[in-house]
Amino acid sequence: MSASAAVGGTRQGQPTTLGEPASFDGGLTEIGEGAWAWLQPNGGLGESNAGLICGEGEALLVDTLWDERLTRRMLDAMEPVLASNRAPLTHLFNTHGDGDHWYGNGLPGAGVEIVATERAAAQMADEPPAMLTRLAPVGSAAGAIGKVPLLPGAASLRGLGMFMGMLSHYEFDGIQPRLPSRTFTGEDSIEVGGRTVELIEVGPAHTVGDAIAWVPDARVVYAGDILFNGIVPIMWAGPVDNWLAALDRIEGLEPATVVGGHGPPGGAAELATLREYWTWLAGEVADGGDEDVGKLTERLIRSADWRGSEWADWAGAERTLVNVARIRSTSADGGSEIGTIERMKLIGGMGALAERLRD
Ligand SMILES: [Zn+2]
Repeated sequence: MSASAAVGGTRQGQPTTLGEPASFDGGLTEIGEGAWAWLQPNGGLGESNAGLICGEGEALLVDTLWDERLTRRMLDAMEPVLASNRAPLTHLFNTHGDGDHWYGNGLPGAGVEIVATERAAAQMADEPPAMLTRLAPVGSAAGAIGKVPLLPGAASLRGLGMFMGMLSHYEFDGIQPRLPSRTFTGEDSIEVGGRTVELIEVGPAHTVGDAIAWVPDARVVYAGDILFNGIVPIMWAGPVDNWLAALDRIEGLEPATVVGGHGPPGGAAELATLREYWTWLAGEVADGGDEDVGKLTERLIRSADWRGSEWADWAGAERTLVNVARIRSTSADGGSEIGTIERMKLIGGMGALAERLRD
């Protein structure tokens, strides 16, 4: 395993896409033999990671980014690596169907085969970038209404407006990313110029169609949003048992390096901490009975357990609201898929909770 300085991207201390000082170096880093990570600090909303695996005469890109400007910057930084390996991009694997991992799919050439799970591909077809551009006016209206403090639910509307404000750091207008040209369920593999990359479906967990890429000869896992490092994970699908099983599956591969969808690369320690977070949270939600989701979440974040935990200094504590809601609605029978209205409510609730937690 070789480590090299990052190329391109946002350096530590420089402003991130969301405008905060970067807490770690972004850019292209070799994390294993012929395997790279593209990192975007600080791993917040839309600050997602990607990967690159080079074989003889072929290369596989793992995920694109939330818009074409960011994806172009990444592809430009990858160009010298591809050129020196004489390996043009031939394959693209999307780990799941959230836009920050595939809205840049329009940039790799039309000859590049795009692979994803069947369920991820269905989510992608349902949630094109146009969905977000349609929501933008709703967001600014919500933000405006949310400023009227006496209105019931004003805090959640303000929260929704805050979320929409964060979207303004990205450029979704007019982009038409390509959908997967090949889908699978369970397991599949991609031959990349003499190297085998194994694809393993582990969802539904973070989303309905999560999968990971395992590169055995470099001992690298690209985990998509099954691993968040330094930031609270968010479970839009669940159940939580699937997420725990996914962490077990990754650990069982004994990787040297795990590149998550957000935050710096990690390994066994980061997997273990994330397992501990989910196990603790699932227990607390069960003990919480039918306590209001917002109140329960706030109580947990302010608890001594939380403050003494390994995740006490993770960013985005308010995301736990979604996790509590989804653990509750999926624990009994696997539960239902989350609808758009429920998702908007939770986004508003997270914004409102973030505001309360600042006090
Ligand atoms: Zn993501």
